[in-house]
Amino acid sequence: MKKDTQIPYKIYLTEEELPTAWYNLRSAMKTKPAPLLNPGTGAPLAFEELRPVFCDELIKQELDNETEYFPIPEEVFSFYKMYRPSPLVRAYFLEKALGTPAEIYYKFEGNNTSGSHKLNSAIAQAYYAKKQGLKGVTTETGAGQWGTALSMACSYFDLDCRVYMVKVSYEQKPFRREVMRTYGANVTPSPSESTQIGRKILEEYPGTTGSLGCAISEAVEAAASRPGYRYVLGSVLNMVLLHQSIIGLETEKALEKYGIKPDIIIGCAGGGSNLGGLIAPFMRDKILGKSNVRIIAVEPASCPSLTRGKYAYDFADTGKVCPLAKMYTLGSGFIPSPNHAGGLRYHGMSSILSELYDEGLMEARSVIQTDVFAAAEKFARVEGILPAPESAHAIKAAIDEAEKCKETGEKKTIVFGLTGTGYFDLVAYQRYHDNDMSDYIPTDEDLERGFASLPKLG
Ligand SMILES: *Cc1c(COP(=O)(O)O)cnc(C)c1O
Repeated sequence: MKKDTQIPYKIYLTEEELPTAWYNLRSAMKTKPAPLLNPGTGAPLAFEELRPVFCDELIKQELDNETEYFPIPEEVFSFYKMYRPSPLVRAYFLEKALGTPAEIYYKFEGNNTSGSHKLNSAIAQAYYAKKQGLKGVTTETGAGQWGTALSMACSYFDLDCRVYMVKVSYEQKPFRREVMRTYGANVTPSPSESTQIGRKILEEYPGTTGSLGCAISEAVEAAASRPGYRYVLGSVLNMVLLHQSIIGLETEKALEKYGIKPDIIIGCAGGGSNLGGLIAPFMRDKILGKSNVRIIAVEPASCPSLTRGKYAYDFADTGKVCPLAKMYTLGSGFIPSPNHAGGLRYHGMSSILSELYDEGLMEARSVIQTDVFAAAEKFARVEGILPAPESAHAIKAAIDEAEKCKETGEKKTIVFGLTGTGYFDLVAYQRYHDNDMSDYIPTDEDLERGFASLPKLG
């Protein structure tokens, strides 16, 4: 182990050191994540059934629990080189401000125009759509990060990109919308009159400002009913976690360069893609008994899928047009309160992370919004980066762990994922500064209403 002073503030990898293949964590799992089911028959979905909705290569990746490594296609690799490697930063200034003996590192994914890790999967999915000869893709976006990332990726490969954006975000986040349009995407507020499911939802709930689940239903319908189009999703699915393994592989290599072994790895969890990617190689070592690293998923107390949800088969969307996935879920009918970390407001969680959590290989905790913003502000003032509210969930937990080290005198090594920047979230920061932010936590009765929407199987 080299001395502290030899560890630079930012650890970069050279181009030669960049990972050239994605790592499939499922290959190491003893119990594989449960398969997607056909909601009509209750049987596992086969390749052919998924083809009308998803791109062929992506379905293969989705269904493959065995292959360890998927080579990163050359076109994707060269795009990655525009903004990767992302830096692994030693948070010297945060450590000093906290007066902790802990060593804190963060992997910063906000160094690209879309401002988050989502571009890592967007570019892969756009590539496979192009390679299949498709005209375009459809998707939903909530807070807008995924839609922005996908717009960039589609414009790079000259694909049409149709984004259904949750209406409330469409109205409240005009800047994100304009970034998407700059990259040539067609952005529709959801629910819209342009799909059957959108018209149905508008009829049932006139004046609704929409939800992610509803936007998913519209995007799926739009893809299935338009020749040459497929639907793509920015989180939750196995294939997305596969692409995001680039985060973990780079982190592993950067740590290895300096002989650093993490004791705790922390990430925020919405659908689970950044966390699933960050932990991929570390969780493999844990499963193989080579490490006993602690892994912590952090979610908002207002949308607590892991900490208060049920491990059950559920619909991925409100319109119930998507396959059933087994996951920790609050029920597709759960409507989360208007929390300011839009990227963490999904009722379910990746099947991979759900299984790992269920087996006790991963911990989870929930944090309240005002604590998250207090942590975000503390971090911004010493480390300089303005974090996305989603990322600040991980910051909050990292600070808590570092403060525990201060009490016990333990010199633990903490690594957390800093998934993005918060420039488009300044209305949320404003609320926080004006003391106009509440900490809504759903009651057990609220959760029961969501669980009542779970499908009854067999
Ligand atoms: C979307 C998003 C998340 C949450 O998504 P995961 O799939 O759980 O990673 C977290 N942080 C940022 C900045 C995001 O845009």
